[in-house]
Amino acid sequence: MKLLMIFLGVFCGFSISPFIHAEVYEGRINYLDPEFEKMIPSEICNCVAFRFDDIQNYWLHDVQLEVLETFRENNIPVTIGIIGNDFDGDMANYIKNVTSSENSNFEIANHGWTHENFAVLDKDQQNQLIKNTNKRIFNVTGILPETFIPPMGEINNGTIEVLQENNFTTFSGLMLTSPPPYPLVISGAHHFPETALTAVYKAESQIFQGLPHSETLKDIQQSQKKFGFSVIALHPQDFAVIENGIHVNKINQDQIHELVLLIEEIQKSDLKIVFLNQISENLTKNLEYQETKSSNSNPTNNGGCLIATAAYGSEIAPQVQQLRELRDNQLLQTESGSAFMKSFNEFYYSFSPTVADYEREHPIFKEAVKLAITPMISSLLILDYVDLDSEEKVLSFGISLILLNVGMYLGIPLAAIIGIKKRI
Ligand SMILES: [Zn+2]
Repeated sequence: MKLLMIFLGVFCGFSISPFIHAEVYEGRINYLDPEFEKMIPSEICNCVAFRFDDIQNYWLHDVQLEVLETFRENNIPVTIGIIGNDFDGDMANYIKNVTSSENSNFEIANHGWTHENFAVLDKDQQNQLIKNTNKRIFNVTGILPETFIPPMGEINNGTIEVLQENNFTTFSGLMLTSPPPYPLVISGAHHFPETALTAVYKAESQIFQGLPHSETLKDIQQSQKKFGFSVIALHPQDFAVIENGIHVNKINQDQIHELVLLIEEIQKSDLKIVFLNQISENLTKNLEYQETKSSNSNPTNNGGCLIATAAYGSEIAPQVQQLRELRDNQLLQTESGSAFMKSFNEFYYSFSPTVADYEREHPIFKEAVKLAITPMISSLLILDYVDLDSEEKVLSFGISLILLNVGMYLGIPLAAIIGIKKRI
């Protein structure tokens, strides 16, 4: 039993869920949630990005323009999420004009074709929609977006592949519905989810209520501490007047004023305002994190299947998910499993971040690890079809699987490994 667990554990640490389950209230992250307590970012950028979603030509037109103008007049960088199918008319002309100037302060991002939920679409459908929007944006502005903002924050494995194929460098969803911000790189694309808002959603009245700038600023400061960056999500309705319970196309001057105050406060701080696609280039190693890692043998928050994740490039690669599911659904359900897990963690997290870092920095080593763990993952899938309801069954299947694996690993030619090592 223990052997089997060590075997799985080497590639996939126990107990620390890589997904953030922290509480959200009215769409806003509750940074007081214990989930965040021990979180320290491994990299920091000391920067914030404004992300203005839902840019189109049919809804809250004047309000959108007023917000965009606020950024333009003050020459503040803002990433704008464009809904492709409705990117025409006045709005398209305005954005074309601003982005044609040399030092434009707008970064253009793709925000779906008709604001569809990408998580329920297959890869081909997603590819088509992303391409449609890219084409429309390119025809209007001559720019190809590098940032994708998934509508409703939802993505699936197919989305990641499509983003790679279409040369996106950055995407920005929600902390809770998208994969976590650690590691920040997911299959080559950096993920920086929204961490602060300019309005909260009131479910009972179905309206968005603007926040005072001091509240948004608090969340920005918290997200710097926890994630090393901040993404402030803005929506047209955050700045619209509410009449008879609905958002109307009239500018809410109070909220525009709050936005101006927010920008001023950020400028007074040591935080830099950047585009979403510039956060990654501003990241530097967090010395505080390095200290904590070496002085504390307890696992830090960047848990999960570190080695497998680095090898497959993504927390949500199917292979990594299989390992995680197996760990959580099968092994942790047995008594000896949960007892073992505790002592295993200290061991696993003492070396796995180093291995994972090395994998990220050395593509050939990464391929070697992938080559080495793929047969193991395939054989572990047998466990999915077996009812592991007793310790004995777990034990006997564990031993047979290990034998099977030993057999397979002897089959990998030693020469190939030596060859790979030489190239590293
Ligand atoms: Zn949206």
